[in-house]
Amino acid sequence: MHQTDSDDTASAVPGYRDLPAVDRLIQQVKAQNDSETLPHDLLLWAARTELESVRAIIRSSQNADADDRSPPDISLTTLADAVQARLMRLLQPGLRPVINATGVIIQTNLGRAPLSQAALDAMHAMGTGYSNLEYNLEAGERGSRYVHLTGLLCRLTGAESAMVVNNNAAAIYLVLSALAQGREVIVSRGQAVEIGGGFRIPDVLRQSGATLVEVGTTNRTYAQDYAAAITDETAFLLRVHTSNFRLMGFVHETSLPELAAIGHAYEIPLLDDLGSGTLLATTPYGLAAEPTVQESIATGADLVTFSGDKLLGGPQAGLIVGRTDLLIRLRRHPLARALRVDKITIAGLEATLQSYLRGKAHEELPVWRMIAFTPESLYERANALHQRLQQHAIQAAIVSCESTIGGGSLPGATLPSLGLSLAPTPTLSVDTLAHMLRTGMPALVGRISEDRLLLDLRTVLPEQDELISLRLCEALAAPSHID
Ligand SMILES: *Cc1c(COP(=O)(O)O)cnc(C)c1O
Repeated sequence: MHQTDSDDTASAVPGYRDLPAVDRLIQQVKAQNDSETLPHDLLLWAARTELESVRAIIRSSQNADADDRSPPDISLTTLADAVQARLMRLLQPGLRPVINATGVIIQTNLGRAPLSQAALDAMHAMGTGYSNLEYNLEAGERGSRYVHLTGLLCRLTGAESAMVVNNNAAAIYLVLSALAQGREVIVSRGQAVEIGGGFRIPDVLRQSGATLVEVGTTNRTYAQDYAAAITDETAFLLRVHTSNFRLMGFVHETSLPELAAIGHAYEIPLLDDLGSGTLLATTPYGLAAEPTVQESIATGADLVTFSGDKLLGGPQAGLIVGRTDLLIRLRRHPLARALRVDKITIAGLEATLQSYLRGKAHEELPVWRMIAFTPESLYERANALHQRLQQHAIQAAIVSCESTIGGGSLPGATLPSLGLSLAPTPTLSVDTLAHMLRTGMPALVGRISEDRLLLDLRTVLPEQDELISLRLCEALAAPSHID
């Protein structure tokens, strides 16, 4: 606490006249950051804004009932530092790398799937120069941006045709707008859900001009419920993979084979929104079965939509695979232009899909590498980290924990994992420690539970372990701990 009597405080409070002139302050900023060659108007703005905010503080500390406020430090160096900090907030990247130690593999808030080296190389190469994005090099004439991925997607999923848009929400919106506008779409009441971030199936249907026909009850929907709802106005049967929650107990969902049979009997297409839509079977990794895209196509879905950056492990994208006649109508719809993907995404997606084609997805794609980490390899890494921290007198415990898939895949499914658990110290609370790790470079985000900070190693790539120990030493290896 600032403890002086009020007369002293009053005389110690600086006045506006004690503040430096703008030009003097700019000079000081330049002197303190010698290599700075920023435009004058930017420096002028930052210096003026800083002085204005200091004036506001002086104004309020001259206020009679503000005697618990300490007067602002208006030394030239302090002001110049503040101006520099103001500039840096604009000049440094706002989007920053994060080490994900939360144990949630597909963390939407942390950017979902990290990309493979092959995807990154391809994206870099396509971003650096021109490409044949919409140019047929063989014929020397205009081509289509969709051809680059169609062959791969058809080969991998067994579908007749394919198309890629910005994300899965866009894919669903395009399909409904192009094929169901002014008509009816039949959905089970238990699947008229919110996917997350305000993306609600009923709202998307309304927005695309389609009418939602809900059938069954929240927990039980039978094949005959769909069949009874079919009219001349029915455009689609829609199945939504309820990927972010699970109904348990007295539940019946109509199976995909049943839906496909109804669709074919009445000649009404079946749209299957898989959400994550994996290409690899999940059960060999000790996870529950997540429906694969191939299965869905083989079972008779006419269109399947899924995300590029969930279990597929690629860049943000929405993939649509299925019947050629339907895909032709999608590509011709005006919205296709508004939702189209750019060359960088196509390049990253192509490289990601090729990992699957070569049978190397589980080795090359970070999402699958993380799913595939064995308890032994996690233990080895936890142990090595633990020892390195001990050398710096940092107390951490190796603890078992559970990772989740996240991103609306496999709700409730967990993978056994290992992590480091950090306890509060007499001088550092767990919240403060978590804040220090979050705000450093690179940011490190774990999860707090029972007054411990847990760093789950499953969502950390082995090549990031070194960075974790560096960040922990920075935060915790106080000089008093070392001597
Ligand atoms: C995640 C998800 C979506 C939305 O996909 P985005 O790629 O995030 O737009 C739609 N449907 C389901 C079932 C999902 O899980």
